Amino acid sequence: MRCRKCKDRAVLGIPRHHTAFCKPCLSDFVCAQAERAVTEEKMFTKTDRVLVAVSGGKDSLSLLDILRRLGYQADAFYVDLGIGEYSRQSKARVEHFTGARGIPLHVHELKEDEGAGINELADLVHRPTCSVCGTLKRYHFNRTAVELGYHVLATGHNLDDEASRLLGNVLHWQTEYLDKQGPTLPASMEGFAKKVKPLFRLAEREIAAYAIVNKIDYIVEECPNSKGAKMLLYKDILNRLESESPGTKQAFYWGFLAKQEAEAKTRPSMTENDQAVLHPCITCGQPTTAETCSYCKLMARAKQTGPAATPS
Ligand code: SF4
Ligand code: ZN
Repeated sequence: MRCRKCKDRAVLGIPRHHTAFCKPCLSDFVCAQAERAVTEEKMFTKTDRVLVAVSGGKDSLSLLDILRRLGYQADAFYVDLGIGEYSRQSKARVEHFTGARGIPLHVHELKEDEGAGINELADLVHRPTCSVCGTLKRYHFNRTAVELGYHVLATGHNLDDEASRLLGNVLHWQTEYLDKQGPTLPASMEGFAKKVKPLFRLAEREIAAYAIVNKIDYIVEECPNSKGAKMLLYKDILNRLESESPGTKQAFYWGFLAKQEAEAKTRPSMTENDQAVLHPCITCGQPTTAETCSYCKLMARAKQTGPAATPS
């Protein structure tokens, strides 16, 4: 297999684009796709400060690497969930990556600031761990971005993540989530950071190849709490469809985005809808649709049921 651009030995075939690339051309392709996402979706510019939420995995560390390579002002934010060896390993990868490149890193420690790790917190409030994790991460991503004066918060979600999430939402007809499935979620009010997903044009295996080619030392293990997650099943199903019919994932997700864009012209935007219902949480001041935000509710419940949790 030869590189489509330079005819050197290819390291990755990309059937959905009928192409293959050698190491340098693969990196160029990945960077060009991310740049296209950033500019076409008007995510941010070279003068904006971007906070990248990193987990120590291939997607978020590659995103940070790509944005820096493209000349964007991208810094890192890591939430330490306190999941034993997994968190120790992932944090070490993040610190090594950012330290070696002189990238500013902000860290939030759940055990220090909430008084317990994610598993203990989930036990205290009797809710599924990943649901509690989602609430906490969304809260801290937003709060940190806003308080530290970043223009935008970027996450490493890729095409596989977005297509599988869309499949899950469609299978259960969770139409209320479909509005928020775009690669750009605007800052709908003061106190809400704009959120973007610059890797939505790239498949997981393309990013994994980018990370390997560029010697990015990432944590290969998945979070132990992801075992049995429905998203992994949806990803597997989409991968099987993709191997039989290359381009399925992108046709599914990008097709959805195109329809969403066409529809948005005929009805009020999500931003306008949200502005009507969002107001500051009476406890912490973060934007919420209820009187108290879900983070504050969760922490209040944890405080009632156990001695460990002490909200910051
Ligand atoms: Fe959080 Fe791990 Fe669940 Fe992902 S799998 S939401 S990181 S607890
Ligand atoms: Zn609150």
